Amino acid sequence: MSQSQGTSYAKTLPEPTALTKPFWDYCKAHELRMQFCTKCSEWIWYPKARCPSCGTRDKIEWRKVSGNGTVYSYTVIRQVIDNSPAFQNDLPFVIGLVELEEGPRIYSNITGTSTDDVKIGDGVTVYFEDATPEFSLPKFRRV
Ligand SMILES: [Zn+2]
Repeated sequence: MSQSQGTSYAKTLPEPTALTKPFWDYCKAHELRMQFCTKCSEWIWYPKARCPSCGTRDKIEWRKVSGNGTVYSYTVIRQVIDNSPAFQNDLPFVIGLVELEEGPRIYSNITGTSTDDVKIGDGVTVYFEDATPEFSLPKFRRV
């Protein structure tokens, strides 16, 4: 993660690698995609060079997921201990582990609700925050 460069976005931004760049490019297009192994029909998250189930390198494709899921676990962030005023302005906020209906679990912000109202099992759907012209960040809101 690095500070944004030449933008007004004050929070840290992704630093894509060759493996993760496709994910961020799809996010920029407001599509949530994850790797899928067509050899053993397993979702792969997060991005890997080989399928962890069968080891293949060349049967992996980026497939669109619905973006719908449920809150698998979460925590409410009530204080930040570094000097990140951008995050302090958001307090309190929710970091959740969302289980997508396709199976993979992804960490993200859960918004659109009071932090006291979030419950495990809540239905959520993805949306994209256009942080900078280069990056749109996947977040989830309750449905
Ligand atoms: Zn596989």
